[in-house]
Amino acid sequence: MSTTFTSHEPATGKVIQEFPIATKDQVFATVALAQAASGPWSALGFDGRKKVLLEWCAVLTKRIDEIGALVAQETGKPLSDATLEVSLAVGHLAWAAKSAKRILGPSFRPSGLLMFNMKSEVQRSPYGVVGVIGPWNYPIFTPMGSIAYALAAGNAVVFKPSEYTPGVGQWLCDTFNLISPLADVFSIVTGLGETGAALTESPVDKIAFTGSTRTAKKVAASCAARMVPYVLECGGKDPVIVAADADIDRAAEYSLWSAMSNSGQTCIGAERVYVHEKVADLFINKITQMAEQIKPGINYGPATMPSQLNVIQSHIDDAAAKGAQFVVGGVDSVQPPYTYPTIMINVPENSLAIREETFGPTLTINRVASMDEAIDLANGTNYGLAASVWSGKDGHRIASKLKCGMVSVNSVIAFAAIASLPFGGVKDSGNGRIHGPEGLMEFTFARTIVSTRFNIPIEFTTFKRTKFADGFIKTLIKFLHSKVVG
Ligand code: NDP
Repeated sequence: MSTTFTSHEPATGKVIQEFPIATKDQVFATVALAQAASGPWSALGFDGRKKVLLEWCAVLTKRIDEIGALVAQETGKPLSDATLEVSLAVGHLAWAAKSAKRILGPSFRPSGLLMFNMKSEVQRSPYGVVGVIGPWNYPIFTPMGSIAYALAAGNAVVFKPSEYTPGVGQWLCDTFNLISPLADVFSIVTGLGETGAALTESPVDKIAFTGSTRTAKKVAASCAARMVPYVLECGGKDPVIVAADADIDRAAEYSLWSAMSNSGQTCIGAERVYVHEKVADLFINKITQMAEQIKPGINYGPATMPSQLNVIQSHIDDAAAKGAQFVVGGVDSVQPPYTYPTIMINVPENSLAIREETFGPTLTINRVASMDEAIDLANGTNYGLAASVWSGKDGHRIASKLKCGMVSVNSVIAFAAIASLPFGGVKDSGNGRIHGPEGLMEFTFARTIVSTRFNIPIEFTTFKRTKFADGFIKTLIKFLHSKVVG
C-alpha cells in the first residue's frame, strides 16, 4: 500500500507535491500530542490566545500573495478569487480572536425566588481536541471557519485537509507553528478518506466536518459510536427567488456570479432560480447575455476534483432527457477539465439538476405564478443550506419562510463575509453552526456552577426538610404560577 500521495494542478494534471498518508496509528499519536497541548493552550486564557491568533493573522496577511498563489495552484481557481478567499478567512480569524472573551466569558443568571440564596454561573469550557475535516473548494476559508473558532475557544486542533488541497493545509499549520509559543496546538494529518475516518475514530473530543452529505453521514455514525459531538457543514441546492418587483439587472448579474464563480463549486452558490412569470423573460434574457461573456479558464477554473465532471454531465443529461431547454451551453458543456456555462429553463422538478447538488457552473431557471409557489419549490429539496431572494418590498417576508440556514436579500453569499453571523444549514445540509457567537459556542460545552451565597432557614435539598418548608414551596409556587398572565 502506498504511503504517500500527490497533489496536482487541476488544469494540467501536473504534480505539485508529495504528501504522507497518515496511518491510523499516526493519526492517534497526533491526537494524543494535541490532547497534551490542549491544557496549556486553554490555560493561556482568552487574552493569551488572542495575542497568538492575531500574530498568526498578521503572518497570513503579510504572506497573502504566497498563500493566494498556493490556493490558486491547488484548486485551479483564478488568483483574484483565491486572494479574496484568503482575505475572508483572515477576517474570520481576527473576529474569532477578538470576540472569544466577550462571548465565552462566564455569564451569571438570575436564580429565581425559590433559589434566591444561590449564585448561578455558566462557564463555556473548550472540549479539548477538535478534529477538523476540510474540503477542497475553499481550502482556507472553509476549514478556517472551524479552526479559528475552535482555537479561539481554547481547543487544540488536528486538521485533515482534502486530498486535493493538502498543501494549503500544510501551509496553514506551518505558519501557525512559526508563531505559536506551544507545540502541537494546531497539527495536520494528510492522507485520503481513510485518514479522515481514522480522525473520527481517534480520541478527539469533537469533529467539525465540511464536505458531502454522503461522507457526513459516515462521520456522524463514527462519532456516534463514541458519543463524540460533531458539527456538519454539507452541500446545498441553493435556490434564488426573483419577485416581480425585483431589480432584474442586479438579480441576473449576482445570480450568475453566485452560480458560476469558482466553477460552481460553492456549497452556498446558486443552483436553481424561481422567477415570477411576469419578469421571467426579462430575467432569462439578461442572465443569458451575461453568461455568454463568461469564459472558463479566465472567469473561473477547471473542476478541482476531476470526478465531479461525471456528476455535472449526468445532471445535464438527465435534465435534457426530461425535456429541459438549454439557453446557454448544452449536453456538450462538459469539456474536461472545464465545464462551460450552462443555463437550463423549464427544468422538471424531479430532475437531478433540481434535486441533487451539481457543484458545477450550471443553473436551472423555472417560472412561478406566485411567491408562495416559489417558496414551496425552494423548500422542496432535501437540502437547506442557503438562499437568495430578490424583491423590492417582499424580500424579508419571503426570506423568513425559507427552510434553510442563511438567506441573502438583494445580494448573494453576503452572510459568509460577515464574521458575526452563524453559518450552517438544516436537513441534508448539516447541523450545528460555525462563524459568529454560535460558532464560538459550538466548540465549547456549558458548565453550570451554582454556589451557595448564604444559608437560609428553609432548606429543600435535605432529608431534614420540614413540613413548614413543604408548605412554603407550595404557597410560593401557587403565588408565582397559578395565574395565567400573557
Ligand atoms: P467528501 O465529503 O468525500 O470529502 C470531504 C472531506 O472528508 C475530505 O477531506 C475527505 O478526504 C474526507 N473524507 C472522505 N471520506 C471520509 C470518511 N469516511 N471519514 C472522514 N472523512 C472522510 O467530498 P468530496 O471531496 O469527495 O466531494 C464530493 C461531493 O461533496 C462534491 O461533489 C460536492 O457535491 C460535495 N462537497 C461539498 C462541499 C461543501 O462545501 N459543503 C465541499 C466539497 C464537496 P479526501 O479528500 O482525502 O477523500
